[in-house]
Amino acid sequence: MSPSDRRTFAIISHPDAGKTTLTEKLLLFGGAIHLAGEVKARGAARRARSDWMKIEQQRGISVTSSVMTFERDGITFNLLDTPGHEDFSEDTYRTLTAVDSAVMVIDVAKGIESQTRKLFEVCRLRNVPIITFVNKVDREGREVFATLDEVAELLQLDVVPMTWPVGMGGTFEGIFDLATNRLLLPEGDSREFHGKVIQTSGVDDPQLDAILSADNLAKLREDVELAQAGYAEFDGEAYRNGDMTPVYFGSALKEFGVDSLIAAIAEFAPPPHALPAEPAPVEPTRDEVTGFVFKVQANMDPNHRDRIAFMRLVSGTFKRGMKLVPTGHGKPIAIHSPILFFARERELADEAFPGDIIGIPNHGTLRVGDTLSERAGVRFTGLPNFAPEILRRVALKDPTKTKQLRKALDDLSEEGVIQVFYPEIGSNWIIGVVGQLQLDVLLSRLDAEYKVGAVLEPSPYDTARWVASDDAAALKEFLDLNRGALAKDRDGNPVFLAKSAWEVGYIAERYNKVTFAATRER
Ligand code: GDP
Repeated sequence: MSPSDRRTFAIISHPDAGKTTLTEKLLLFGGAIHLAGEVKARGAARRARSDWMKIEQQRGISVTSSVMTFERDGITFNLLDTPGHEDFSEDTYRTLTAVDSAVMVIDVAKGIESQTRKLFEVCRLRNVPIITFVNKVDREGREVFATLDEVAELLQLDVVPMTWPVGMGGTFEGIFDLATNRLLLPEGDSREFHGKVIQTSGVDDPQLDAILSADNLAKLREDVELAQAGYAEFDGEAYRNGDMTPVYFGSALKEFGVDSLIAAIAEFAPPPHALPAEPAPVEPTRDEVTGFVFKVQANMDPNHRDRIAFMRLVSGTFKRGMKLVPTGHGKPIAIHSPILFFARERELADEAFPGDIIGIPNHGTLRVGDTLSERAGVRFTGLPNFAPEILRRVALKDPTKTKQLRKALDDLSEEGVIQVFYPEIGSNWIIGVVGQLQLDVLLSRLDAEYKVGAVLEPSPYDTARWVASDDAAALKEFLDLNRGALAKDRDGNPVFLAKSAWEVGYIAERYNKVTFAATRER
């Protein structure tokens, strides 16, 4: 077992592009779906599995869908879920800090949509390499060139078509793999996966004349010739740097092209690598166990205060019962009942390796951004806060509860549920979130856990930016002249509250020695 056989990745997409369908098919191909229905499990595997099932039942926390693991050809794939619907929140963003690569799913008829773009920007921030999967080619969609060019232009990426659909929608006949010159044909009523594979010598191979319709074949030959002249060749390094994306076409629903996608993740996607930390980056080969918490899932049952902290293992071999020290809070904690996510064939479910995710039940001691390590000398850096997209003013129903409210807001912002901003002028605290669901979670937890009744009122602000400058005089001038729009975050950093994105642009231009950052490292 070594870090090189792990692929820890997430799928980024806009709702409805097919993420759920693709996830199911990936798990199915990897054999993990059997897990759910499988009765027999041996020894350690059975123990580990029943552990998390018990946790799920007793505590009402659904952890299984947060991390999905499957194996294929000796590679272990850890797929981390990035909730993308109404429950879109900072968790979604932060999950992307725990992956080594991402698959971007786009709907062939719709192209790049808003949520895909936002998630992409987070990937770019950390140079997360991206494989593109253009889904739903069994339906009518845009021209292949239009899709490729849109990805290139909107996302400023070099695109490399790795496969090419033959026809689309009603005329769909199969997929041509440009790297191997294989033609993949659907079999039967095109519901069967894998399909039939025909090795050719290239699109000009005469045997294709007997297989594909004349129209589709002529177009394929013409398109591929244009594509080969027009797009760069695949370059592994450019991909791993986040500058180039290989593009695959397929249909998750019809289980078509999914195989090529898995093969691409196995072949190209980076295994766990060194992560930025203080005092020095941590290599996955380091023998000490280190990791960081990228997500904390609170209990859905308000009578329990248990949480599950999701830790990405960065180095070392984690073993059940191990003691780890959370940076900043000192006391080592023994991790007796970790949730280890594992694939069907894994015998040693009591161990986890770099790239794996471990769920750690706790009572609120572990927070998003925490580093855990055996010897306490490391701290991972770079887990960002994101500029909130929804800002609200918090008003108390009972004004004597100010102190409790402040404590609750500090706690919940440390946990990563919300961000809190304390304006320089006035006493109306502002909270910020990136998704609506976070507001509901906030209100119900204020009520249930802190006994604070609060209401959220509209705020005059639309977004927030962290302010900094190398030029102390310029910074002071800005801060002095804009006090009415300034606040401090939980850690006392200055934040500019803007009424619109336009205002951010306007102010940034006027104070060009000051930076207005949309993210801040925790
Ligand atoms: P998500 O919101 O991104 O998770 O998308 P889903 O996987 O739930 O898919 C949204 C809808 O698109 C569902 O009705 C799927 O059946 C459908 N869908 C997903 N993949 C395909 C595909 O490859 N072809 C077609 N025709 N429909 C698809």
